[in-house]
This record gives sequence, C-alpha cells and structure tokens, in this order.
Amino acid sequence: MELTTQLIHSGRPEATPAAVNPAIVRASTVRYSSIHEMHETKARRDTERLLSYGRRGTPTTFALEDAISLLEGSDQMQLLPSGVAAITLALVTLLKPGDHALIVDSVYLPVRRSFNQLLKPWGVTVTFFDGTVEGLKASLQENTALIYAEVPGSLTYDMLDLSALCDVANERQIPVVVDNTWASGYLFQPLKHGASISLMAGTKYVCGHSDIMLGSVSANGEIAHNLREMAITLGQCISPEDAYLALRGVRTLACRMDACAKTAIALGDWLATQEEVAVVHQPSRITHPGHDIWKRDFSGTNGLLTVEFKNTVTTAQSEAFIDALQLFGIGASWGGYESLVVPSNLVAARSLDDSWQSRGPCVRFSVGLESIEDLQSDLANAWAYLSR
Ligand SMILES: *Cc1c(COP(=O)(O)O)cnc(C)c1O
Repeated sequence: MELTTQLIHSGRPEATPAAVNPAIVRASTVRYSSIHEMHETKARRDTERLLSYGRRGTPTTFALEDAISLLEGSDQMQLLPSGVAAITLALVTLLKPGDHALIVDSVYLPVRRSFNQLLKPWGVTVTFFDGTVEGLKASLQENTALIYAEVPGSLTYDMLDLSALCDVANERQIPVVVDNTWASGYLFQPLKHGASISLMAGTKYVCGHSDIMLGSVSANGEIAHNLREMAITLGQCISPEDAYLALRGVRTLACRMDACAKTAIALGDWLATQEEVAVVHQPSRITHPGHDIWKRDFSGTNGLLTVEFKNTVTTAQSEAFIDALQLFGIGASWGGYESLVVPSNLVAARSLDDSWQSRGPCVRFSVGLESIEDLQSDLANAWAYLSR
C-alpha cells in the first residue's frame, strides 16, 4: 500500500466494534494482579511493547509511534516533548566527552545553542561544514563521532546529497543524524539514504494545527535501542492528549502538505517577479542551487518559502511590509493550517557564510490552507508599504 493509505489505517483499534480512533489512555500507575505478573511485565518491557508505567508509554502513544515509524520507515522510534528535545536526545546518546561532531552550517538555529550550552562544556568539540562531500572529508577528525545534517537547511533550504555524505560517513562508521522536519517523512526518508537517525519536530506538519509540541527520533537496531535507553534515563515522555492530537494530524498530513505546497509554489512564482526581491528561496524553484538534488530525492515540497529582499530594501521597510499583512499571522513555527510570516536573521543563523552581512533582509513564509487568491491579494496590498 502507498504511504498515504497506510497513514490512514495505522495505529487504529483492531477489535470490533470499536471507535474509529484509539482511546486516550491516561496513566501513571499501572496496576498488576499479582507479584508474578508485575515481575514478568518488567522483565519483558525492554524488548516488548507493554503497558508497565505511564512514563514508558500508553496505548495512545504506542499508536502514534506506529504512525511515525511508518513516516520515517524505521523499526523503532522515540517520542519526545518537543523537536529540540529530539535533537538533544540524539546528541547525548551518540556523543561522549572527547568526541568531535560535524554539523551542517544551515541547521536550525537552536542546534547551535545545544552545542554551545550543552556539548562544549561537556567536552565535545564541534566543526561546522558546508554540507558538501568535500567539506565533510576536509573536516573529519580522528575522533569525529557524529555528523549532524538538516535537509533541506533551515530558512534557505540548502540541499545536500545525503546518500553521498552517508557513504563517506558509513565507511568510517560515523553515524549521520538528520533533521527531517521539512519533509516530515512524507516527502523524504533519510534512513533510506543511509542516515542512522532521523528526527522531526512533530510540532510542525505532523501536528499541523499549531496546538502541540512534539518531537520524534527514529532509528533501527542498536542505535534505536540506545536512544530508548537514554530517553528512559532522561525521563522523557509525552502526554496522551498530545499523542492523540498528533495522530489526528498524521491522518491529513499528506493532503495538507500537498495543498500548502501548491499555494506556496504559486506565491513563490509571483514574489519572484517583484522588483524588490533578490531571491525566493524554495527548493522547487528551478533557480534554487540544490533543485536537481531535491528533484531526485524528494517526492514534493511544502508550504515554506523565504523571500530575500534586495539590499536596497531596509529592515524597517521589510518589517513595515510584515506589519501590513492581514492574513499572514506574525509568529514562529510553521506547518500549521494558517499562513504565517516572520523576519529571518541569516547573519545569526550561519557561521561559514559571511555574505549575509551585506545582503537584504529575509522574510520567511509558512503558507497555509487559505485560498490562494486571498493570500496573493494580501501580499499585493502589503507590498505598497515597501515603498514608503
Ligand atoms: C521547529 C524546528 C525544530 C524544533 O522543534 P520544537 O518542537 O519547536 O522544539 C527542530 N528542527 C527544525 C528544522 C525546526 O523547524
């Protein structure tokens, strides 16, 4: 069956008659009928999926685990209370003091914080690299223990050839961790390209309604086991309500992403014709530097695009433009049903590319499910403020 079909039917009650959706099971304590049953459950719970204590999951979170494993094409996965928690779980599981980590320069900005605040004081060194195979080879060290990538990169959607990077890494048995939030499993599956771990902020498209925080870390075999052990050690778990809402989001993920993408492509085309625009960053655009890799590896695009104004446009002008938008809400995050807009600071988000100092302001759009005509006229109306 196609992934889109499987996403509809996974993690649903098998017994009949039954409600269509799984129950929200709230639990801390799980009561046993005998000491024997308790001992037996505890002996089996590390290798089997059993209800044993609330922190280790309930039937509601198990159902979501099945759906996210489908999305990532993984044997196992671990749910976390946010995307950032998913990132830190992967980092602390794979790295130990004395190790070196390589990170793609176009990562989600808070990853830099994890390295500065958590890993550096803990004795892990870090090098940022440009995402190319040559850059990777040039930056590898004897003690490199992890390669961290995001594809496409945050804000400017920089593409990288994940299979080629994984070939180099796997030859040296260095695990590659990929942030797969942009594709959310529907458009791309990093594990199939040789990555050891794929993680997502379920907060974005998986949830899809801007009302929960969620992270997931997916892997196979021993790495999956180690991630689970570390999550238990750190006491990470999510609420059954959040699991229920995320599972509801999964059901419509494919059609929401397709619809957002269709509108975002059309709006990107329109924005690219405007005189004040230097570049519309969006992998589906033929002028995008990584367009060919995107076409080869990804099954589609999403609702994200970033407008880079010419450097004759001031920050004040671009902010007046944002303020003038009526339908695009001003706010962080993305992947929800409503359209959002935020200014993006590329100077802070990149350490290898200092060209951003002299480039124009950037504005990131997350295109939602409103009518394309309404969104376009909102953009056109606000455009007038650019010239004031
Ligand atoms: C939002 C985001 C995260 C973090 O997710 P939260 O749930 O907000 O913690 C991680 N990676 C990427 C690429 C993101 O866009």
